[in-house]
Amino acid sequence: MLQTSLDLVYQYMKSSIYYEETRDECRVFESCFQLKLPLLIKGPTGCGKSQFVTHMAEKLGKNVIQVSCNEDTSATDLLGRFLIKNTDTVWQDGPVTKALREGAILYLDEVAEAREDVIVALHSITDHRRELYLDRTGEKIVGDDNFMCVASFNPHYQRGLKQLKPSTRQRFVTVEFDYPEPEIEIKIIERITQLDLKLVKKLVSFAQSVRKQPELGLEETVSTRLLIHGAKMIHSGMPPRRACEVAVAQCLSDDKKSTQALIDLIALNF
Ligand code: ADP
Repeated sequence: MLQTSLDLVYQYMKSSIYYEETRDECRVFESCFQLKLPLLIKGPTGCGKSQFVTHMAEKLGKNVIQVSCNEDTSATDLLGRFLIKNTDTVWQDGPVTKALREGAILYLDEVAEAREDVIVALHSITDHRRELYLDRTGEKIVGDDNFMCVASFNPHYQRGLKQLKPSTRQRFVTVEFDYPEPEIEIKIIERITQLDLKLVKKLVSFAQSVRKQPELGLEETVSTRLLIHGAKMIHSGMPPRRACEVAVAQCLSDDKKSTQALIDLIALNF
């Protein structure tokens, strides 16, 4: 039954925001939307998580309300605050309350960066209740039928220092992202940058060699985002080696030895 209704949705809804599916993540997202389950997307930086969420939201005809979480994000920033307007005090919704009322897709980017107390304040919107009690106004907001909570999380960032508690993790259906397989990454970069296929292949082959070398000691390896930057610079006429050095190598490390090792790998590929 569910299969049939999902198939129908797939048939009739198209998105103009380009996203190349790498496995079955579009189906997982649609399924969570239909079943009113929150979704956690875990994966390294620059691998397509945000692009995926925007694409899916457009496909489903929903707005995305994005919050880039960091340690300064407070519960007030997310839930709302009282403001003084002339002589009145008025309540202004924050992104979370707005998304709940409007039935939007709430995208909590890098959720593990938020403080623990802030994450816990969101627990009631990520379980079967899908509601929020605002103690400052005494209001209970029940999520609109179309409300969906999506969060992203980079498990390797800062060598795993920022982890999510099991009580948070177990609220979400979780889909794992990684950098796409070479053929798919080539397709993505070519489509986005219009760079000549031969050069795109060289870029991806360089990325593959970096990703296979943990001994380079990089905190994070080369992402699809960086390859796209490099490809755009090459496409604009910059010599490939220099484009890769400034758009990729220098962005991955400040350690002279590691940067030089990356520059040598670039020279091997171009
Ligand atoms: P993240 O949110 O994981 O940090 P983004 O969604 O910002 O990464 O993606 C970084 C870049 O890579 C964007 O330009 C995006 O278009 C591109 N990209 C990565 N994977 C895909 C994909 N599967 N389909 C389309 N574009 C992708």
